Amino acid sequence: MTASLADYRAIVGPEIIDELKVAADQIKHRRLQHINSTLVGGGVAELLDRMVPLFRELGVETSWDVIKGEAPFFEVTKAFHNALHGGAEAITEAMLDTYRETTAQNLESVAITGDVVVVHDPQPAGLIEQRGDDRRWIWRCHIDVSTPDPRVWEFLKPYVDRYDSSVFSMPEFSQQLQIPQFMITPSIDPLSDKNKELPQETIERTLESYGLDPARPILTQISRFDRLKDPVGVIKAYRLVKRRHDCQLVLAGGAADDDPEGAEVLKEVNEAADGDADIHVVALPPHSDIEINALVRGSTIVLQKSIKEGFGLTVTEALWKKKAVIAGAVGGIKLQILDGITGFLVHSPEGAANRAIELLGDPALRLRLGTNGYLHAKENFLTTRHIRDYLLMILALEEPSKDMRYLVGLP
Ligand code: UDP
Repeated sequence: MTASLADYRAIVGPEIIDELKVAADQIKHRRLQHINSTLVGGGVAELLDRMVPLFRELGVETSWDVIKGEAPFFEVTKAFHNALHGGAEAITEAMLDTYRETTAQNLESVAITGDVVVVHDPQPAGLIEQRGDDRRWIWRCHIDVSTPDPRVWEFLKPYVDRYDSSVFSMPEFSQQLQIPQFMITPSIDPLSDKNKELPQETIERTLESYGLDPARPILTQISRFDRLKDPVGVIKAYRLVKRRHDCQLVLAGGAADDDPEGAEVLKEVNEAADGDADIHVVALPPHSDIEINALVRGSTIVLQKSIKEGFGLTVTEALWKKKAVIAGAVGGIKLQILDGITGFLVHSPEGAANRAIELLGDPALRLRLGTNGYLHAKENFLTTRHIRDYLLMILALEEPSKDMRYLVGLP
C-alpha cells in the first residue's frame, strides 16, 4: 500500500508537508517526467515507487517511464556501472555501439512528455539527443563517478553536458561538468517495513528467533558480507569490548549464494567468530526488512565500520531508530554522523571498541546520541526532504538567473 501525504504529516509534522505544498504550487503548471531503466528492483526504482505518488498528491503531474533494452544492452550498462565506479572493465567499440543503438530505439519509443525531464543514471542518459529548447533536462546520477574509467566517462560526458543540470548524491561523487550541479542526498522512507515503528513483541520475538538474550547488550552491524564493510574488524572490536562488558554481536547480511566474494567473506567471518556463542552471524534471505528493522531496534549499539562507503543507508536507518551508532569515518557516513553529537566516527577496530565500551557504560550518552541522530535523520534524510529538494531544484531551474525567490503561502 502506498503511503499518502497524511501519513507523512503524522511523522514529520504539518509544517514540512505545508512547505512541500507551497513549493509544489509554484511548479504545478509544469509536468514532471522521470525516466529510468527498471520498474522494479534496485534503489532507484524503490525510490521512484515511493516518490512519484507523492509528487502527484502534491498536484504535480508526474509520469514515470522506463527505457527498454535487450540483454546485451544491460550487460554493457552493467559494465559501464562498474567502470564508472573505477573497476577494471574491457570496454570495446562494439559495446559503445550497442549503447548507441538501444538509445536510438528508445528515442523512437519513449515519448517525452514532461516539461521537466529527470533522467536517472547512465542507462537512459542518451535520451538527451531528443532535447529541444522547450524542456528542462536533469541528469540524476545515483552512483559515484569520481574515479571513473576514462573511456566510459569520455563517452558519457558529451551526453551529460547537454543537460540543463545534474544531480549527485554527494560532492565527493561528482565530476567536473559544464552544467550546474545540485547535491541531493539519498533518503529513507520512514513508513517502509525497514523503518516503520514495530510492536515491542515483534522485536523480542525476532531477538529470540536469532538466539539473542535481550537482557545483555547487543552490538549489531547490518551489511552485505563485503570486506569494505570490515566485518572481521567488527569482530576484533567486539573481542576488546567483551573483556569489559558481557555483550553479544550480530553480523547480519544478505545470504551470499550468488556472490562468490560474499560467500568467501562470510566464510572468513565465521572463521573469525571461531565458535563464540555470543557472535551471531546471520545470513539473511532477501526481503528481510521486518527482521532487519527488529534487529536494529533491539540492539544497544549499531556499528557500521566501513572502510569505504557510498552514502551508507544502514546508518540512516539506525539513526532513525534512535540508536547510538559507531561508524567508519568514510563516504556519506560523515554527513550523517557528526562525531560526538549524532554518533561516533572511528578509524580502527580499537577506536570502535573504545567508543563501544564508553557507550555501554553510559546509557545517558547513548540516549543523547540516539536522540540527536534521530533528529538529524528526520531533518535531512527522509523522503519528504528528498521531495522538497527536487521541487526547489525545479524552481531554481525555471529562472536560472534569479539568485533569490520568495515562496509565499507559508501559514
Ligand atoms: N540491506 C538489506 N539486507 C541485507 C543487508 C543490507 O536489505 O542483508 C539493506 C540495508 O538495510 C540498506 C541497504 O541494504 O537499506 C544497504 O545500503 P547501504 O547504503 O548501507 O550499503 P550498500 O550495500 O549499498 O553498500
